[in-house]
Amino acid sequence: MIYRTLGRTGAPVGVIGLGCEYLINQPASQIVSVVREALDAGVNYFDLFYAQPAIRDAYGEALAGRRHQVMVAGHLGASYQDGPDGQYARTRDLAVSEAYIHDLLRRLRTDYLDVLFLHNCDEPDDYEVVITRHRELAERFRQQGKARYLGFSSHTPATALRAVTSGAVEVLMFPIHLLEHAQEERTALLSACVEHNVGVVAMKPYAGGKILQEHASAAVTPVACLSYALAQFGVATVVPGAANLAQLRDALHYLDATAAERDFSPALRQLGAVGATSACVYCNHCLPCPVGIDIGAVTRALDLARRGAQEAARQAYARLATPASDCLQCGDCASRCPWHLDPPAAMAAAAALLE
Ligand code: SF4
Ligand code: SF4
Repeated sequence: MIYRTLGRTGAPVGVIGLGCEYLINQPASQIVSVVREALDAGVNYFDLFYAQPAIRDAYGEALAGRRHQVMVAGHLGASYQDGPDGQYARTRDLAVSEAYIHDLLRRLRTDYLDVLFLHNCDEPDDYEVVITRHRELAERFRQQGKARYLGFSSHTPATALRAVTSGAVEVLMFPIHLLEHAQEERTALLSACVEHNVGVVAMKPYAGGKILQEHASAAVTPVACLSYALAQFGVATVVPGAANLAQLRDALHYLDATAAERDFSPALRQLGAVGATSACVYCNHCLPCPVGIDIGAVTRALDLARRGAQEAARQAYARLATPASDCLQCGDCASRCPWHLDPPAAMAAAAALLE
């Protein structure tokens, strides 16, 4: 493993960390084996924003006896809705937020988190709430010894910049991938992170899988994506998702990759015509849906179908518990999409194409 310092926390973190998005709903044994192999490879930074009990319990089992070797990041403001689908839900309810941190500590079999993120904050109004009320609660966790460092997770450069320059947080979690190369606002944000010594955790290095699904080539590889993220200002670690050991090993290959494999300039050239994110990255930040639609998964199936992979799209779609045709067109999800996409329109398109 190669280690970098995580901003002014001073903590050494492996350049390859692990996100949890692809591990959701995987069997516990699979989660445990992925986390343990990551540990054996020297991964020491694990982000765990999901609140579903199963993934938290599996992480607790995987980290048993090794908790002291790693940094674990939890998110204040991440919860989930009980019920058959158990969907992720962002919350600004302080009591609910607090309860989910206690739940995380208990299921991880630990009494502290290394980084406690103010979770998923993009809009100016929400920033005012989060940087006051949630931060106060986060500071209380820190005073109680239950959190070592405070972080801020966001998808919006202007909002993230406010947090970084406020002096309130030591870590920023932000999406960094090839498709958003050279965006001026992002560059300014990352420069500010360097200036304020805020450690950057790069999330979504594959743009929710889109880069590899749509552009994979000899140039566009997991190593190139990770190498790109790690080359940006202020980035200490990148947290790719890995649904299984094969995907984890693809990411860990960064560590013994050749200079040519790490050279992401051919990937940039190949993707040169692709601009800012204007399409879904399947992150499900737009949940919860009142009828239980897995919006990210439906949109992923829709994109597959639109790219001509009809059979794979139909198979993926058939596995979903709630069809897109159940969509009420209420628009709640659209207001929560960090990229201001139109998921109700995607639901209508999916229903037309896949049902
Ligand atoms: S618009 Fe449709 S998909 Fe979006 S939250 Fe409402 S019911 Fe769910
Ligand atoms: S519509 Fe937006 S929030 Fe929802 S899954 Fe897609 S990118 Fe994420």
